Amino acid sequence: MIIFYIILFAYGAVIGSFVNVLIYRLPEHQDVVRVRSHCTSCGYQLRWFDLIPIVSWVIYGGRCRKCGSRISVQYPFIEALNGVLYILAGVKYSFSIRCLLVCLTMSALVAIAVIDLRTFIIPPSLNLFIGIMGVIGIITDPQGMIKYLAGLFSVSLLLLLIYLISRGRAIGGGDIKLMAASGLLLGWQLNILAFFIGCILGSIIHPLRMKLTGAGKVLALGPYLAAGIIISLLWGDEMIAAYLRLYI
Ligand SMILES: [Zn+2]
Repeated sequence: MIIFYIILFAYGAVIGSFVNVLIYRLPEHQDVVRVRSHCTSCGYQLRWFDLIPIVSWVIYGGRCRKCGSRISVQYPFIEALNGVLYILAGVKYSFSIRCLLVCLTMSALVAIAVIDLRTFIIPPSLNLFIGIMGVIGIITDPQGMIKYLAGLFSVSLLLLLIYLISRGRAIGGGDIKLMAASGLLLGWQLNILAFFIGCILGSIIHPLRMKLTGAGKVLALGPYLAAGIIISLLWGDEMIAAYLRLYI
C-alpha cells in the first residue's frame, strides 16, 4: 500500500512540474507542449536531470545550473503540493478511474488558483479540461448521471443571476464556468459545499491579505473556489454526513 502512495506522489510531482509550465505559459498564450523547458534568465535549455521534480531544485540550491540565477521556490512547492494532493486523492478514492479524474482536476485547480491570483483571469482551457473530466466521470459512472448533471447548474445558475444583476461587477464569467465544470465532476451537493467553503475562505483570507500584503480590493475568487472544490473532493462526503448527523 505504501508503494501505491509513493507512486502517486511521484506522478503528482511530475504532473506538478507541468502545472508550473501551465502557470507561466497559459497567461502568455505560449505553447505549453512543444516548447522545451528553459531557464527564464539565460535561456539555457534544461536537460532531463534538471527537470526531476523537487530533487533538481534542492540539489542545485534553487539556482540555474548554467547562469546561477535564482529559481523561484514556487516550482518545487507546486510540485510537492501536487504530489501530496495525489496521495490524499488515493486515500479517498483508492485505485479507481475517479481517483485519476480527481487528481487531474486538482492539478488544473492548482493552476487556476495561481493564474487567477496573478492575472484575475481563469484560462477557459482549464475550465474546459475540468468539464471534460466531469463528462468522463459521468460516462464511467452512469448511475450518478442526474446528480452530476444537476451539478452543472447547482451553483452556476445562482452565480449567473448575480452576474446579470450586478452587470458583471460582482463576479467573473470564469468563476461561473468553473463552478459549472466542477459541478459535473462533483455532483450538485459537493459542488454547493465547495462554493460554500470557497466563500468562507475568501471572506476570511482576503481581508487578511489586504491588511498584510496590501492586496487590492478586487477579489480574485478563483483561488478560493479552487480550494473549496479540492476540499470538497477530498473530504466533502464526510463533512456532509457529519452535518446531517447533527439533525437526525
Ligand atoms: Zn539560467
